[in-house]
Amino acid sequence: MAEYQLTIGLEIHVELRTKSKMFCSCPNDPDERNPNVNICPICLGHPGTLPVINQEAVKKVIKTGLALNCQIPEYSSFDRKNYFYPDLPKGYQISQLYQPLCKNGFLEIYGKEIKVREVHLEEDTGSLVHPLGADHSLVNFNRAGVPLMELATEPDMNSAREARKFAEEFHLLMHYLDVSDADMEKGQMRVEVNISLSKEKNKLGTKVEIKNLNSFKAVGQAIEYEIKRQTDILDKGNKVIQETRGWDSLKGLTVSQREKEFAQDYRYFPEPDLPPLHIAQNMVNEIKAEIPELPLKRRERLIREYGLDEKSAEILVYNKNLGEYFEETMLNFRNKPKDEFLKLAKATSDYIITDMQSRLKKRGITSISGSFPIKSKTFSTYVTSRVTGILSTATSQTVLDDMFETGKDPSAIIKEKGLELISDAGELKKIVNEVIKNNPKAVEDYKKGKENAFQYLIGQVMATTKGKANPEMASQVLTKLLKDI
Ligand SMILES: [Zn+2]
Repeated sequence: MAEYQLTIGLEIHVELRTKSKMFCSCPNDPDERNPNVNICPICLGHPGTLPVINQEAVKKVIKTGLALNCQIPEYSSFDRKNYFYPDLPKGYQISQLYQPLCKNGFLEIYGKEIKVREVHLEEDTGSLVHPLGADHSLVNFNRAGVPLMELATEPDMNSAREARKFAEEFHLLMHYLDVSDADMEKGQMRVEVNISLSKEKNKLGTKVEIKNLNSFKAVGQAIEYEIKRQTDILDKGNKVIQETRGWDSLKGLTVSQREKEFAQDYRYFPEPDLPPLHIAQNMVNEIKAEIPELPLKRRERLIREYGLDEKSAEILVYNKNLGEYFEETMLNFRNKPKDEFLKLAKATSDYIITDMQSRLKKRGITSISGSFPIKSKTFSTYVTSRVTGILSTATSQTVLDDMFETGKDPSAIIKEKGLELISDAGELKKIVNEVIKNNPKAVEDYKKGKENAFQYLIGQVMATTKGKANPEMASQVLTKLLKDI
């Protein structure tokens, strides 16, 4: 098998979250269950109607472009893309070909800048339903005219891993910028992959487009499949056909849909019903000021400021909510000495990622701001209690469950439930001495250098006290007493 140069570019469509549709005042409601409710003469393309540009949608595209380091040209305009499809009521789509809103940006993944050719604005089509066994199809125009943002990259990616990461990073960006829910299962974000294999370095092969990939997994799998398929063709000395293919996730393969159209097939021309847009620099500046810290920066900062490992930082960046909660909790530790601060940071992130996250999932809690019962200050007490050993691993779970219900401070819950640990040195000494007396064999093993004999003895202390011995102190007392034997 010969080695080929793999080149991948992506096109990503995202439905914007706006109050109304792109060119009319119909609600943009992706959760509307009744078909053909959010419609009017404009989005149904009745003759004599005129579109009006949705400013909110324009701003959201510019916001995205700025986050992707794009240029925002002073003038932008809309164009008419002509094609027939039953779910396109006007017989054309208003899109942008000649003067997109954003140009020439990039997004960094794995330390590599992937160039973004453009981000533009268009309108979505309606949706077709094909009832099983019926001799007809149904059409729902609720989605027709919903603002749709399209991003196109340059062919800068060279592996399925990079392409998948780009899609994931862009998806995360949508949430940070608050421009779209980008729910892939609901079709709010759809990925197209342009892929080519070439025998010669620095020369592109024949481009094949894989349409409508609705999950990150599908992006990765479809690319892997295409690499194999095209390699086979080239190995046999045949030519790859330029075409559009679909991904069949059940069979795990791509299927030919049609030969590729070219821009001229759509007979694009400037949309006569809409004036060109003048993008005022002060509006761009206002939008720029609204952009929060983005995932790439936040990832780096969490590692630098709190000494987190990459994996923990990634989880806290991906779950934006949890990351913010982590930083709020850490505010309570800001006066601690550096080494203690770092230790508390690790503990806080660990307890949020394990204890906290599992309980949130179990309870179906998606937002931990506002009415969430455990204030970050209270959670910081939980962290300190665990780090100092006031809360053992076992009791901490009961306490945290209670905190979820009542929002109370851990110390109050410990008192109420009688979960205080035995931290009295004299009392612990008595218990440990008893355990030593009753386990001569383990003591002997320990003296011979068997480390797990120590763990066994600690286990006995815990069993005797029903888990109430302060583990850190018990271990100190045991070490000392064993030394004296
Ligand atoms: Zn409408």
